[in-house]
Amino acid sequence: MRNGNDVLVVGAGIVGSSTAYHLAKAGANVTLIEQTHPAGGPSGKSSALLHAFYLMPELSQLSIRGREILVSLPEIAGEGSFVTEIGMMWVCGRDNEASWKAAAERIRGEGARIETLSPQAFADAAPDFALDNVALALWEPEYGYADAFGATNAIARAARAHGAKILQNTLVEGLRRQGDRITGVTLTDGTVLEADTVVLAAGPWTRRLLATVNLDLPLHVERHPMAVLDAAGQARKVMPFAWCDDISCNYARPDNDGVILAGTWAGGGTGLRHEHAGRPRFVENPDSYMEGVEESESVEILETFATRVPAMAELGIRPGYAGLYDMSPDDLPVIGAMPGVDGLVVSAGSSGHGFKTGPAVGEAIAKLVTEGAQPILAPFSPDRFRAA
Ligand SMILES: Cc1cc2nc3c(=O)[nH]c(=O)nc-3n(C[C@H](O)[C@H](O)[C@H](O)COP(=O)(O)OP(=O)(O)OC[C@H]3O[C@@H](n4cnc5c(N)ncnc54)[C@H](O)[C@@H]3O)c2cc1C
Repeated sequence: MRNGNDVLVVGAGIVGSSTAYHLAKAGANVTLIEQTHPAGGPSGKSSALLHAFYLMPELSQLSIRGREILVSLPEIAGEGSFVTEIGMMWVCGRDNEASWKAAAERIRGEGARIETLSPQAFADAAPDFALDNVALALWEPEYGYADAFGATNAIARAARAHGAKILQNTLVEGLRRQGDRITGVTLTDGTVLEADTVVLAAGPWTRRLLATVNLDLPLHVERHPMAVLDAAGQARKVMPFAWCDDISCNYARPDNDGVILAGTWAGGGTGLRHEHAGRPRFVENPDSYMEGVEESESVEILETFATRVPAMAELGIRPGYAGLYDMSPDDLPVIGAMPGVDGLVVSAGSSGHGFKTGPAVGEAIAKLVTEGAQPILAPFSPDRFRAA
């Protein structure tokens, strides 16, 4: 251990749970603190689409490793499978065709299966989908989606099995600072917990906790509504794969056969950022935002599918739900040692696409704490905002 063996991890989302698991496995004395329960925040509401496709190599590599960890949960946690490998299909127009093709070639070299489909090959693979403006499709047969709540809880249980202490229903009121060192946290009942390292994996609550020790990062929070479509047992017929459409700015996946989850998509680190995709949806206070979804919001989401997947228009609309995205200014996660202090590692700003990478991010953070800087995390360093 570089700084000492005692580590506090704040937040039991996918990142905090995985960090605690990997630290405990490496022999650290870990306490994982969560205000509700594992996956009680955004991780538990994640659509959890899995794919290796990213324009940035480090994100692809973290996704590939993230899937490996999720797929190996039966061995790691001694529990069932939390991954549904129905494949992930992407389509884009002319503007992204060249960069997406190049990324697919790179990703093949990194060991994931990803096929480049011509418009005709896409039409053959998805005969009920319209071809309008599709210049290129990508098909990732090994990917699909995960059960985000189940997987996060399984990893947290595996952390506990390796000796991590989990404090549930426990709210961290603030970090503790002595000079240039973070020394622990204070809980709302006044309890002080000290540690050699604090890992802050608190998602949308990150800025609030940083402010308690006069630190800050340029993060903001957005509400992300999901439509839940009643597919009457036909979900996989209407939406046979996990889907992302860069032209219509939407994504979807079946949830078994009963329903299809659908949302708008703004880029998520894979291409141009689509400013028109329902933004902005700023949330001031992550403790009180509208968790339900108005029917008009579901209809708005559904309308983005009208041309591409006409069968979606026939589905019933169930009550939807909304989760929170903790956003960074460049849509990339913010992971690494917090500048200006010792003893604090932060993971935040996953910008709506951090479930698939989360298991691997936790593993890399554990290595950062025990061994020192990890090259795979370098592009995500909070240092990039130092001048801002
Ligand atoms: C609707 C929706 C759909 C999404 N779809 C996808 C997708 O398809 N694919 C994908 O890869 N990603 C997706 N994401 C994004 C993904 O879910 C997140 O990036 C990821 O789950 C973030 O995980 P995390 O561990 O960083 O943080 P979080 O899940 O935000 O966890 C932070 C935890 O910290 C706890 N906490 C905060 N403050 C305190 C405190 N003071 N004391 C104690 N505990 C505290 C919170 O309760 C929370 O449990 C989606 C997100 C949403 C909301």
